[in-house]
Amino acid sequence: TEIKEIISVLDKYPIVLPEQLQFWEWIASYYMCTLGEVSKAALPAALKLESETHVFLDPEFESQVSFTPNEEKIFYILSDTKPLRISEIEKITHISNAIPYVKSLVDKGAAYISERVKNKYSAKTETAYRLAKDFSDEELSQILDELKRAKKQLQLLYIFLELRHEAGNPPDFYILKKQLMDEAAVTAAVLDSLEEKGILNSFRFEVGRFNSIDATLKPIKDLTPDQSKAYNETNHAFTDKQVVLLHGITSSGKTEIYIRLIQDAIDRGEQVLYLLPEISLTAQMTDRLKSVFGNQLMVYHSKFNDNERAEIWQSLLTKDDCKIVLGARSAIFLPFRKLGLIIVDEEHESSFKQQDPAPRYNAKNASIVLAANFGAKVLLGTATPSIETYYNALEGRFGLVTLSKRYAEIELPEVVPVNTKDLRRRKIMKTILSPPLLDEMKEALSRKEQVILFQNRRGFAPLLECKTCSWTPKCEHCDVSLTYHKGQRVMICHYCGAVYSVPSQCPECQTPTLDVQGYGTERIEELVTEQLPEANVVRMDLDTTRSKRAYERIIADFELNITNVLIGTQMVSKGLDFDNVSVVGILNADSMLNYPDFRAHERAFQLMTQVSGRAGRKNKRGLVLLQTAHPGHPIISFIRNNDYAGFYETQINERQLFRYPPFYRLIEIVLKAKDESLVDSMAGEFGRILRQTFNDRVLGPVKPTVARIQSLYIRKILLKIENQASPSKVREMIDLCHKYVLQNSKYKSVLLYYDVDPM
Ligand code: ADP
Ligand code: ZN
Ligand code: ZN
Repeated sequence: TEIKEIISVLDKYPIVLPEQLQFWEWIASYYMCTLGEVSKAALPAALKLESETHVFLDPEFESQVSFTPNEEKIFYILSDTKPLRISEIEKITHISNAIPYVKSLVDKGAAYISERVKNKYSAKTETAYRLAKDFSDEELSQILDELKRAKKQLQLLYIFLELRHEAGNPPDFYILKKQLMDEAAVTAAVLDSLEEKGILNSFRFEVGRFNSIDATLKPIKDLTPDQSKAYNETNHAFTDKQVVLLHGITSSGKTEIYIRLIQDAIDRGEQVLYLLPEISLTAQMTDRLKSVFGNQLMVYHSKFNDNERAEIWQSLLTKDDCKIVLGARSAIFLPFRKLGLIIVDEEHESSFKQQDPAPRYNAKNASIVLAANFGAKVLLGTATPSIETYYNALEGRFGLVTLSKRYAEIELPEVVPVNTKDLRRRKIMKTILSPPLLDEMKEALSRKEQVILFQNRRGFAPLLECKTCSWTPKCEHCDVSLTYHKGQRVMICHYCGAVYSVPSQCPECQTPTLDVQGYGTERIEELVTEQLPEANVVRMDLDTTRSKRAYERIIADFELNITNVLIGTQMVSKGLDFDNVSVVGILNADSMLNYPDFRAHERAFQLMTQVSGRAGRKNKRGLVLLQTAHPGHPIISFIRNNDYAGFYETQINERQLFRYPPFYRLIEIVLKAKDESLVDSMAGEFGRILRQTFNDRVLGPVKPTVARIQSLYIRKILLKIENQASPSKVREMIDLCHKYVLQNSKYKSVLLYYDVDPM
């Protein structure tokens, strides 16, 4: 074969490291998706290669062959301009399909086609100046002499040399244009003159997008005796365990222990990855870690733009100054070289799992595999461990370290259930705000203390209903009712995002009797404003935090006591550290307890414990009012008594009894199609074939609660696989069944994906 010439070198060094490729392969195989899907999630788009077809004129073409009119047209525009893309040729020549003519030009030897491949990343550059050549001292004094009459130029060169002198006269000394103009107080024209005279030289200099701050760093805090003990135990556990669970109640100082461990890793010359479940949490944590570690910290998540993400990637590949990456789940894909420690903060959070699109990976579990590739350690931290993690810790697979006191002897809050069933029956409670909760709120506000209200539903009302005929509006594309958003005066589908206007009367019976049902955060905000007109109320949910700034402002205003009542969805439960909140209200505990999922009770316990953890001030016990129709529910008792062990006991028994994780591994097979009978029959067929291999480990197919989303009908099949079974074997067997079903070509149009370890 003919050896082709290298046209250009794309990357000076490989962009993906061998350790990463190995990790990508594991993700693709374990989470049952393609390597392409993994690379798409892993690589910043700006580092992906784009190919473009260009048509070139052959410079050596001298032949006398004749052209058709269209070929001639193309030949001439190519000789006029640079190489062109086919689409450009079509635009200039008005030939609707230029491909055949280009091909015949190529056949006649007049042109050739080349695929040009490039990546889209562009470094940010600024103009800088340096000396045009390596002048000797005599030459320089002669130049200064000659510039005597050009005062401004002389001044400029003088300042340039002075700055160079201050920097210790390095031979390749340069300075950014902006800075030079500033220091010398001259215009750009003066710079141009010196460049024309061959004294200074301008060039484009690559600058970072992340301007470094030089704030003075705070020292690492001294640990309390309890924290010291936990820190030593963690280190000790790491001697023979790869993964350690740090189970510390809210505000026990887990972050202070992380900071210690990060410093230790840096001292050993290792890199640290600090994973948080949500982008919204990174702001507070960034401030906290930056104040200790300064510019050794980099932040990475999907809200960064392409070039920013590419720059962090490149800098991890080529530089050594970044020691800690703080990020959301996608940060596990960064090109680490000396990873020593991964911290997974709030490890119980389900948002470590990516839902859509593939790879549907769980960053917590994947980080254990990633760390193993590097011989690194993993610290899982939380006040409410996931059942799976705690099980692993009790079984001895993970180390277990416990912190059971809050910092500064602040007590855990008192959790008091409010029996809504009873209050409603006695007609004392008319809205979602019970009188006892309102009273406590009023008292807290009169003492200049703050209140957090938690309701896990955004929008104004989850349901509109016609009082006359019971009609409720539904989404055209999904099988769900629409949520009413009063502020925007619309109804929104929370599954597909479709927006509908609110009908002025019922479309079924034509009576104007549409009424709101239920409470979303927006309605609660309105209600609190009515009931407590003097309070400054703010709402934090997806709708009020579309921009990153908005989120930060809500937090900052609450921290500064500018706002008194914070109303929000699960966003208010996470990691926020406020010190003047004395009352927390959980408005509807039952909606969480009654959710149809085997993890519902676990989530309810975690969520309510975390929200409660926001209450409590120095020297004063906080109060949590928990509104429920079932005050005796066991989960509520566990929350009241801060009884994690008791809670765990009930859950682990149920998990074993009903064959759920950690005893079994779940694989969900999701099928979607526009045609309901098609998806039905394929799901049925697939279920039958799977059963021949997996027997009673197959559940379904079932119609999920929301059985149609974005006009696609959905069916699900669940596999419960014993832990001992090898994932790759299981995958092979499922693949065989899948291939068998696909022999029937009518199923090719059905969308099918696997969700391994679904959350
Ligand atoms: P957790 O991460 O367990 O919820 P934090 O680390 O956020 O707890 O600690 C709660 C609060 O107590 C923070 O404001 C933190 O700065 C403070 N704190 C914890 N430990 C110490 C310590 N050893 N010295 C000073 N302040 C501490
Ligand atoms: Zn009606
Ligand atoms: Zn919809």
